[in-house]
Amino acid sequence: MEKVDLLIKNGWIITNTEKGQFVGDIAVKDGKIAQVGENLSSKYEADKVINATGKIVAPAFANMHTHAAMNLFRGIGADLPLMEWLTKVIWPLEGEFVSPEFVRDGVELAVLEMIKSGTTLYLDMYFFEEYTADVVKRAGIRAALGFGILDFPTKVASSPEEYLKRAREFIEHFKGDRDIIPVVAPHAVYTCSPETLTKAMELAEEFDVPYHIHLAESKGELAQVEEKYKTTPVRHMKNLGLLRDRVIAAHMVWLDEEEREFVAESGTKVAHCPESNLKLGSGIAPISDYLRRGIKVCLGTDGAASNDNLNMLEEMATMAKLQKGVNLDPTALSSAQALEIATANGFESVGIKAGRIKEGYDADLIVVDAKKPHLQPLYDPTAQLVYSAQAGDIETVVARGRVIMENYKVLTLNEEEIYRKANRWREKILQKLTQ
Ligand SMILES: [Zn+2]
Repeated sequence: MEKVDLLIKNGWIITNTEKGQFVGDIAVKDGKIAQVGENLSSKYEADKVINATGKIVAPAFANMHTHAAMNLFRGIGADLPLMEWLTKVIWPLEGEFVSPEFVRDGVELAVLEMIKSGTTLYLDMYFFEEYTADVVKRAGIRAALGFGILDFPTKVASSPEEYLKRAREFIEHFKGDRDIIPVVAPHAVYTCSPETLTKAMELAEEFDVPYHIHLAESKGELAQVEEKYKTTPVRHMKNLGLLRDRVIAAHMVWLDEEEREFVAESGTKVAHCPESNLKLGSGIAPISDYLRRGIKVCLGTDGAASNDNLNMLEEMATMAKLQKGVNLDPTALSSAQALEIATANGFESVGIKAGRIKEGYDADLIVVDAKKPHLQPLYDPTAQLVYSAQAGDIETVVARGRVIMENYKVLTLNEEEIYRKANRWREKILQKLTQ
């Protein structure tokens, strides 16, 4: 018998590969999937065995656009358009409250929510990301973290140079880290000058890291960019030479035909955030068309203040249904495509080999209890995971071979303590809001 660390037995395995889905076993060793197949318990002996009979085993999710600390603002400023929401609600609150402690406590709540809904990688743009990194490491997941860069002064920095300096220090510290992928994250083309955007790209090139930006999110953004630069957000980026394959552009709702070609040719990736775009009334990104053009699309929730949750299962179902509805075509985005976008495409966009249940891939997995009224009877695990499952059905989460949630309990974080801290922030924030 060969020794492995973890054996998951007799589950409905959704491989996210050409093998499709079948009932079988997964052997995990040193954080990676050693073998996928049938009857592996006759070959392997494991320290830990999970019996997945009647359960679905799928790749874990990669949430490719978030502002995790904003979980502490969840529920505030609902029903406003993007620019008003930012300038009248979010930016003033951030000006008052954002601090290392705020970031640490907000991120703990966000990471707890993400693990409970099956996410083991996320891409974040915020401030004080070194405190975020600490939480991510404790929780046992991975994150691609971008220290936000802006032109206007905040509590974090007083000039673009200072933001860039903070971003550089963050990258220098975390480059090559086991859990953290440092990212350069200029906020948007309407909050960063061409010079800041370009300097941010020079930094990304110097350290060979991803470049994450909000782009072509709303009609309001289009109007601002038209007024200031007499062009569109995507053309503005192209004119500056900043459409490249290291770019992961969040939203990308408003692109004309020619701009879509620029994006496809340059290898620029899209982080699609359908629920945030719906809630802020920004629009619906034409991602079935992007996929047809060969554009790499991954999926994100955006911050909890504009979604209002970090639930990738729900995001995935919304994405698929929107494309069917908008295109008047139920084949516009299949459940298998939706799952791939929500898992493998996200991991791969930052160079991680995960999101598929295949030998040699990182063992980032979820086990879903299918013995739930809304999942019975189980005919097609992929379709039913996408269209029927709920976050609360996820009972076990494995991140690089380590079980970080078992039997619905997150093993790496103190759930009660996180709620206590979140409510202490609620008191402070409410006081400010009612002043
Ligand atoms: Zn965002």
